[in-house]
Amino acid sequence: MLIIGSHVGFNKDSQVLGSLDEALKYGANTFMFYTGAPQNTRRCEINEDLVLECIDKCKNNNIDYSKVIVHAPYIINLASPDTDKWEFAVNFLKGEVDRCSKLKIKNMVLHPGSHTGGGIDLGIDNIIKGLKIIVEYNSDVRILLETMAGKGTEVGRDLSEIKRIIDGVNSDQIGVCLDTCHLNDSGVSIDKFDEYLDLFDKEIGINKIYCVHVNDSKNEVNSHKDRHENIGFGTIGFDNLINVIYNKRLEDIPKILETPYVDKEFAPYKYEIEMIRNKVFDDELLNKIKQS
Ligand SMILES: [Zn+2]
Repeated sequence: MLIIGSHVGFNKDSQVLGSLDEALKYGANTFMFYTGAPQNTRRCEINEDLVLECIDKCKNNNIDYSKVIVHAPYIINLASPDTDKWEFAVNFLKGEVDRCSKLKIKNMVLHPGSHTGGGIDLGIDNIIKGLKIIVEYNSDVRILLETMAGKGTEVGRDLSEIKRIIDGVNSDQIGVCLDTCHLNDSGVSIDKFDEYLDLFDKEIGINKIYCVHVNDSKNEVNSHKDRHENIGFGTIGFDNLINVIYNKRLEDIPKILETPYVDKEFAPYKYEIEMIRNKVFDDELLNKIKQS
């Protein structure tokens, strides 16, 4: 079954129940949210009654809550060569996994980090050291390392870097989240996605993939940029993204759209999800969204 949704909001009043309601509005059967603003550290108390209400409502709407995703904020940088920043990252991530536990969320996506000049080897060592602490600290939550575009000093720009982290932590609590825009920008042609999956399976194992971020890209293959584009309107193209979304080997893995709002104002997800379900590209889609 196709499990598809998008990034949705999370606010302190309706919390995860509000996130679910937004997803339902888009015709989604899964969703992903940040437990607070991704760029700051302010976090509210999790209301566990709302979590139970949300899980009930998911059941009534045939949504598998165990596949709902949380995204860790990008201020967490486990690859930092700066001890204070690294300690802050570990402590903040502890708080995030605790919040996932209260939310009964199983999978949290994490950007591995940026070594900011410390070098790739130190960066990877620091990530491994941090993740070992996290998986010891909380066994409820799986951390999904996201494949990165390789912008600046980002770690996780290719399979070998992801593999080194996974092998170094050596825990079932570590998985992977593929991102089609990041893969494209890091040098993987999505028109050869099946070859990439073969290689992934050989090096890491497809069973480690728990989430796929489906985004088109504003930039060419190997550009190391990381700018997401609406589905079918970028350099990857509709047919290649459909091949990822409906790929038999990734069936039952949640597909999450993180495409940009049209004119920074209109959420595209209802329309993109409908287009994906129809499997037919609509080149007037963005105009339709603006007029909605
Ligand atoms: Zn992503």
